[in-house]
Amino acid sequence: MPENPSKVALVTGAARGIGLATARRFLGEGWHVALLDIDAATLDTAMAALAQPDATLALTCDVSDPAAVAAAFDTAMKRLGRLDALVNNAGTAVFKPLLETTHEEWQRVLAVNLTGPFLTTQIAAPLMADTGGGAIVNITSISGLRASTLRVAYGTSKAALAHLTKQQAAELASLGIRVNAVAPGPVDTAMAKEVHSAEIRADYHDAIPLNRYGLEEELAEAIFFLCSDKASYITGQTLAVDGGFDAVGIGLT
Ligand code: NAD
Repeated sequence: MPENPSKVALVTGAARGIGLATARRFLGEGWHVALLDIDAATLDTAMAALAQPDATLALTCDVSDPAAVAAAFDTAMKRLGRLDALVNNAGTAVFKPLLETTHEEWQRVLAVNLTGPFLTTQIAAPLMADTGGGAIVNITSISGLRASTLRVAYGTSKAALAHLTKQQAAELASLGIRVNAVAPGPVDTAMAKEVHSAEIRADYHDAIPLNRYGLEEELAEAIFFLCSDKASYITGQTLAVDGGFDAVGIGLT
């Protein structure tokens, strides 16, 4: 049975990967879902694959652009009427050494991965409060839990997002809004295919007790749980969904 057919989730970076799997998970429970992404063509493909025009809304938007974010939420509210969950999943990765990361790369990673969730939350929170509250999940990374080479911009953005999660939880509890983070281990999405070299893949294989990459659906399950009423007393937390990587603590090169 659907948990609540009238609820609405907005998922950023929903055109593919973990975001698309998350949109599917909400739809499977009878929620309506706004799928937001910067990549209009991939979003079109996702909408066609979901084939649920009555329950979905596509929004093309760069989460780091304040005006575009405001316009996207405006459209979502006009079309879907309410907001119960926000999943800040859109992300970008640059895997380079500290001394080779350019100022532009640093700025872009911070803008998408950290400023994006700041902007969306500022708009989403009052909308959620209008209907008694809601839940926000920020997608961080195990790269924000422990330092390793090549992840100066990416890991720093995700560690900061984990702290932003706590700040948001502290300030939004009084509005009835819970805020948590999910820190994925490696998942073989388009992003991972782009930045995980053979050496990184071998490192992860050795360092993960469950000995494999995670599945998009495994992440979506944890994200949905934290947005659902079943997580009603959980806020301000980061849940690592990482096959035991963080718990065991074997380092990466
Ligand atoms: P992905 O690249 O397959 O999907 C990310 C989506 O975000 C894409 O559709 C992309 O177009 C969109 N996006 C990028 N920049 C955007 C912007 N400025 N505005 C709006 N949309 C934007 O990646 P994924 O692996 O599914 O990653 C989802 C999240 O999970 C990201 O935040 C990522 O950092 C995090 N994560 C992924 C892994 C992994 O191994 N795949 C591990 C840890 C954390």
